[in-house]
Amino acid sequence: MLLTALRYSHQLLKEIVSEGDHVIDATMGNGNDTLFLAELVGETGQVYAFDIQEQALQNTREKIADYKERTTLFLAGHETIEEKIAADQPIKAAIFNLGYLPKSDKQIITLPETTKQAMQAILKRLTTGGRMIIVIYYGHEGGEAEKNEVIDFCQKLPQEEFRVLNYQFINQRNSPPILLCVEKKSD
Ligand code: SAH
Repeated sequence: MLLTALRYSHQLLKEIVSEGDHVIDATMGNGNDTLFLAELVGETGQVYAFDIQEQALQNTREKIADYKERTTLFLAGHETIEEKIAADQPIKAAIFNLGYLPKSDKQIITLPETTKQAMQAILKRLTTGGRMIIVIYYGHEGGEAEKNEVIDFCQKLPQEEFRVLNYQFINQRNSPPILLCVEKKSD
């Protein structure tokens, strides 16, 4: 069976992330991706995870209780990646889940400008063969504008440097999520 966008995002991470890698969860939310990544990077790797809501950090802290050493949780927006993660720190993979935190305040959403700042900071650090995955949820107010800006940003990435994939079920009702995967080519 074809994988949902969520399952496919994990598949794309699993294929490339291994023991010792440093990776980013740009939107912690309820912590599922942080946990998934923590298991992939192993004892010697590191997951940097970002969210602006205390609730997200609480959810995530519980999930990664066994993996405290290999995770760094920031109560800060992903637009601070540039200042929080050293410019020479290679990043193997990053993941975003855009939109609002399910069952929480629908007004607190990711925004186009800050999402783009984060994507730029990640791409600067992405290793050869590394992947940046963005799962776009856009059914909420403001979601459509963000979707368009994120797709536009990724579409304009030079094909000499990046492969960019768009994965979406196109016959589903109610704004089915879009998965974008940006993979860095070898120099
Ligand atoms: N819509 C997805 C979940 C998205 S969760 C789904 O249905 O599965 C998005 C998370 O991003 C929320 O927890 C929200 O607090 C967080 N967020 C919003 N702005 C952010 C920012 N600038 N930096 C990091 N996280 C942010």
